[in-house]
Amino acid sequence: MELVSIIVPSYNEQETLPLFYKEIKDVANVFVENKINMEMIFVDDGSRDDTLKIIKEYAGKDDSVRYISFSRNFGKEAAIYAGMEAAKGNYVVLMDADLQDPPALLLEMYQFVRDDKYDSVATRRVTRKGEPAIRSFFARLFYKIMNKMSEIDIVDGARDYRLMNRKMADAILAMKEYNRFTKGIFGWVGFRTKWLEYENKKRAAGETKWSFWKLLKYSLDGIVGFSTTPLMFASWLGMAACIISFIVICFVVIRQMLFGGSAFGWPSMVCIFVFFSGIQLLCMGILGQYLSKTYLETKRRPIYIINEKNL
Ligand code: UDP
Ligand code: MG
Repeated sequence: MELVSIIVPSYNEQETLPLFYKEIKDVANVFVENKINMEMIFVDDGSRDDTLKIIKEYAGKDDSVRYISFSRNFGKEAAIYAGMEAAKGNYVVLMDADLQDPPALLLEMYQFVRDDKYDSVATRRVTRKGEPAIRSFFARLFYKIMNKMSEIDIVDGARDYRLMNRKMADAILAMKEYNRFTKGIFGWVGFRTKWLEYENKKRAAGETKWSFWKLLKYSLDGIVGFSTTPLMFASWLGMAACIISFIVICFVVIRQMLFGGSAFGWPSMVCIFVFFSGIQLLCMGILGQYLSKTYLETKRRPIYIINEKNL
């Protein structure tokens, strides 16, 4: 019998979990009627509310529920990885606990992959209704920049809600990097992906875990993780500065020889100093970003630490 593993990263989701569990059970029953088993793997990402308690309750009465609980908050990316490592299914699904990813789509997603037309079915929201305008603006900007800079394709509005076959799940598991940017990883591994579109849904309850600054940091991490263009940008900037200053030096020397008295322009000199020191610091900063990622990567720290589980 086929087995579908549903991975649900959960961080402080005590309000949404009961709603989620009810909906996913309805879908699971439809699957079972079609002779497909379903297991749910809840990954408690160091929640400080009753999330773990609720999950344990479900696990106690429902054999298809498994859980992993982290020793602290490691982030959604780590939770996804842990869940995928634990998943035994022929098919793996990633789904948020807040019902922004409609479980009703699951059967359709499953059919596309089972018929072997695609290796994965991903979802994207076509509207950003219910989201602050400024956030949508920066999100769009990020996708534009990211797609210019990086060779992999990152789809605007793509959610992490996705069903994939074993082949693709194993490919993702083989990427053991510490700085995980899942949206980039999906694109990087390749395979045939079918995109389903739907209107943005509001969270069923609770609050989003993403502040504006967290999102900004996340997008910068994504760029550093999947593109080396900023480094190239630094080199080009340096090169351009050299060429321009060489031309200016020639100009000053010739002017001195022909007309003499070139010892003026102190203020402009200061401006130029400050400008180029700025550029140097900027480029060093870019370099530093890559260095710090390399540093963390070479430490080979585990992606997550388990506190308890029932596997
Ligand atoms: N999440 C997590 N660890 C975190 C932040 C979020 O496991 O550090 C989970 C969260 O419980 C939810 C999913 O990731 O199931 C998406 O989070 P959220 O709804 O806050 O993000 P948004 O939908 O606003 O992008
Ligand atoms: Mg959400």
